[in-house]
Amino acid sequence: MTEERRVNHYDLIIVGGGMVGTAIACGLADSGMRIAVLEAAEWTVPWQPEQVDPRVSALTEASLAFLQSLNAWPGMTQMRVTPYQQMKVWEADGTGHIEFSCDDIHAENIGHIVENSVTLNALHQQLEQTDVEVIRGAQLVGITEAFKDEYGVERSVMLADGTQLSAQLIVATDGARSKLREWGGFETREWDYGHDAIVTTIKLEQPHQGTCWQRFMPTGPLALLPITFNGDDRYCSIVWSTTPDEAARLSALSDEDFCAELSLAFEHRLGKVISCDPRFSFPLRQRHAKTYWKPGLVLAGDAAHTIHPLAGQGVNLGLLDAATLVEELANAWQRQQPLGIEQTLGKYQRRRMPDNLKMMALMESFKRIYGPVPVGVRWIRNVGMNLVNQTPMVKKQLLRQALGERAGLPEAAKVHLA
Ligand SMILES: Cc1cc2nc3c(=O)[nH]c(=O)nc-3n(C[C@H](O)[C@H](O)[C@H](O)COP(=O)(O)OP(=O)(O)OC[C@H]3O[C@@H](n4cnc5c(N)ncnc54)[C@H](O)[C@@H]3O)c2cc1C
Repeated sequence: MTEERRVNHYDLIIVGGGMVGTAIACGLADSGMRIAVLEAAEWTVPWQPEQVDPRVSALTEASLAFLQSLNAWPGMTQMRVTPYQQMKVWEADGTGHIEFSCDDIHAENIGHIVENSVTLNALHQQLEQTDVEVIRGAQLVGITEAFKDEYGVERSVMLADGTQLSAQLIVATDGARSKLREWGGFETREWDYGHDAIVTTIKLEQPHQGTCWQRFMPTGPLALLPITFNGDDRYCSIVWSTTPDEAARLSALSDEDFCAELSLAFEHRLGKVISCDPRFSFPLRQRHAKTYWKPGLVLAGDAAHTIHPLAGQGVNLGLLDAATLVEELANAWQRQQPLGIEQTLGKYQRRRMPDNLKMMALMESFKRIYGPVPVGVRWIRNVGMNLVNQTPMVKKQLLRQALGERAGLPEAAKVHLA
């Protein structure tokens, strides 16, 4: 082995320092592995106390437990997190509605609304205190299989300046449009939802009541997620999913006209929308890799799956991938088993793929049921929604799922409800 090769060799290389990649690095930082995180961006977007990040996530209790195990949660609460105790969901086209309250399952909260920059900054602060090497501004141009024997393979990533970095295992957490997934030859199933999502922060006339609000319209769901900003609880982050044409029209409106349309779309349930921040719009695409691993290469987070934001599950699934991968890799490392082989990565896939697929199927059926449907179907939908609302056992079960309580969770993300 040449000197240069030894210097550039790691046990684990994580490509993509977003929430999922950084969480994996934090989770394995004390394992004794030599780890590098390669991130394309030069800087972590700093968290800004005077500005609400337009990208927020509704973190479940399972995600919170994992972030606590990484010691990131205390830092996050010092920045800004908004707990919510209720969810109210209703239909524009009829009388169907469901309300959930944390009291139904004797929990303190259902979840927390957290700006993505808060989670990312807290994780990066934790990472800075470890020996994990973070290479920023990394420009990757490809990956190769550097070495192969009966114990496994070794992969290399190639950087634009000609440097090659090799590892037993490369973890691809480089997001929805993952280059590593493409270079690794992973097949995906994907389709457009036919929706774009508009996100921004708004101020309302009335307080948000610690409630996540969702109104299903034939064009798509509108979600208002509570944010308490400088002690003022009249703010919400919105995710308005609608047809691309409608999204383009809404994006082009003046702030005043947009607030007026939003007030109407939300049926003035919290009075008028007084103001809004700049709006951003994202095309929504469902994508799922048919396999999560190949020898020496594994996918996690949005690189493995992207899902409609209507139930706010994207990063929660990604953090569960992270917690599971951390558990499997730490076990393999302790047993001195290679990291990039079937025994390690196959188990990760078997634990995560069914859960991810189940959630994606659920979101797809929601999207179809609440899209434009014949009157008869609409009637059944209304009746069904109201029936669920009146059946405490079913509601409890749905609520436990929303909190992230499921069988087979990794130890670090276990939720313990009364
Ligand atoms: C409108 C909208 C609303 C959403 N709301 C929610 C919600 O309420 N709840 C929820 O759970 N999820 C939500 N999501 C989904 C959530 O944002 C994603 O699931 C989450 O950001 C995925 O995290 P990740 O770390 O896998 O990927 P990303 O956040 O995309 O991070 C990928 C990282 O990899 C880096 N990178 C990319 N390419 C390279 C490369 N070639 N080399 C090196 N680095 C690279 C990027 O710079 C980035 O830092 C929403 C998504 C959208 C679009």
